[in-house]
Amino acid sequence: MTPRALLFDLDGTLYTDAGPVPGAVEALAALRRRGVPFRCVTNTTRRSRRLLAERLAGYGFAVEPAEIITAVMSGVALLRSRGVRRVAAYVAAETLEDFGAFDLASPRPEAVVVGDLGEAWNFGKLNQAFHHVMDGADLLALQRDRYWFKGDALALDAGPFVAALEYATGKSAVLCGKPSAAFYHAALATLPAAVAARPRDVVMVGDDLWGDVEGAQQAGLTAWMVRTGKFRDDVLAASGITPDRIMSSVAELPDLFRTLTSESW
Ligand SMILES: [Mg+2]
Repeated sequence: MTPRALLFDLDGTLYTDAGPVPGAVEALAALRRRGVPFRCVTNTTRRSRRLLAERLAGYGFAVEPAEIITAVMSGVALLRSRGVRRVAAYVAAETLEDFGAFDLASPRPEAVVVGDLGEAWNFGKLNQAFHHVMDGADLLALQRDRYWFKGDALALDAGPFVAALEYATGKSAVLCGKPSAAFYHAALATLPAAVAARPRDVVMVGDDLWGDVEGAQQAGLTAWMVRTGKFRDDVLAASGITPDRIMSSVAELPDLFRTLTSESW
């Protein structure tokens, strides 16, 4: 099967804290030259879409902001559709500009939005979010990833904190980003209609077994996993999840397309 379009995870797939994954810039440039459409789909809640675009450009990736689809954008769209104005946003300061349409200072928020706060989490913040939900606020999880690869070790992502709030309140969070099918369908909808109509020919490429691989497969897409970022053989073996392909990194893509299409790249 030759992909008609690709969706790329960002952190751990196109870049890590150490910089761009070797060969990733060249791989995306090759796809661009061949006219293969792609989008970047990220659960990162540590940066606004604008800052993500700047980071990609800084690494040498030629990606338009319109080609970046974030869990935060999905969350904002959901809040708007519900007519919510007052929001308690537990996200990094660098992400707050994406929530500019909302009142973020109300003591009576209508929605609690949880992202990756990293080391800014503390008992007071988690307890405050707990009280808001107990007082009737909706609970939105921008993402519920378990962990990510930070610097040189795994680090807790937003998921464990979402789970804590669900456990304490007895309420289930609404998931905005990967692996929700709605997020994948929204990403597909930004591709040319003829491509979006055949999700199985669209490949999600990522380093997260649940958000990237399982989620994409359940939404009807094909999922290729990379051995970069948080990838671990033991976690894959124990997961019961079977990626449609496993690559050492996205740098393999041009060779792979050459093989699949029997064309020179
Ligand atoms: Mg990732």
